[in-house]
Amino acid sequence: MINYGATDFREDVWLLVKAIDKSYDYIYAVPRGGIALAVALSQELKIPLAENPFFYDDKDKANVLVVDDIIDSGKTRVSYREFDFACLHKKLHCQIDNISYPPTKTYSANPAIDDWVQYFWEAGEEKAEDAVIRTIQAIGDVPNREGLVETPKRVVKSWEELYNGYKQEPKDIFTSFSSDGYNQLVLLKDIEFFSMCEHHMLPFFGKAHIAYIPNTKVVGISKLARLLDIHSRKLQIQERIGEEVTKDIMEHLDARGAACIIEAQHLCMRMRGVGKQHSIMTTSSVKGTFLEGGNARAELMGLIK
Ligand code: ZN
Repeated sequence: MINYGATDFREDVWLLVKAIDKSYDYIYAVPRGGIALAVALSQELKIPLAENPFFYDDKDKANVLVVDDIIDSGKTRVSYREFDFACLHKKLHCQIDNISYPPTKTYSANPAIDDWVQYFWEAGEEKAEDAVIRTIQAIGDVPNREGLVETPKRVVKSWEELYNGYKQEPKDIFTSFSSDGYNQLVLLKDIEFFSMCEHHMLPFFGKAHIAYIPNTKVVGISKLARLLDIHSRKLQIQERIGEEVTKDIMEHLDARGAACIIEAQHLCMRMRGVGKQHSIMTTSSVKGTFLEGGNARAELMGLIK
């Protein structure tokens, strides 16, 4: 990772000022990564900033230089293909060579790099918000239109809840009690859950049934729902949620058997691709006694019917 500091920035601004060989009517900053450089270039070159790149002077289309911090995939650059473009860095793999119509210039202060750049004006949270801004652009919308201005902040905020499984340790919820000799099936049925599929980052949701057969310890029943939340509030696949839940129960509770049956609807199937509207996917993860030929599994299946 390149730690890009204020001195680098000053030098690069100076390089760009020297390299930019024609005058522009306006400079437009791609939000938000391009703002620092755009302001610096605007001051040095004495060119005013524009609020959008499609600025008109009288009736003529203004000659606008679009400014961003980095050309990453090249998608942003291509979306401004009709403008000249200035940036601090561009990635080696960016696909901008095929910008042929109309011919435009791309100024980069540095040769192409393969590294991640941490600009000194980016804080952690803002970086996440910046990623949302890029996403909105990639979708084809305008990030600074009224309805979307606050969206990056809200999206990042919602992630705290949707993905809070990353911040929790399953072992922390297993405060267990003695089973006092109880060694029969314990079942929590119809636990609602929401998760995000790791392939499309779209929700899948439904209900889970979690069961275990104690050895010497039992756990408060609500903890099974907490355990499900910890594993579902991540980028996941349905199969892995069940596997992780049963693995934790076996491990932290020293159970004789554990089972997790999940029935879920996947929005990535309903909204796109094959478009199967009413399909429900069922997965079952079983461990220990539930795997052995005895009646534990049959009892469980009878109870959740
Ligand atoms: Zn998916």
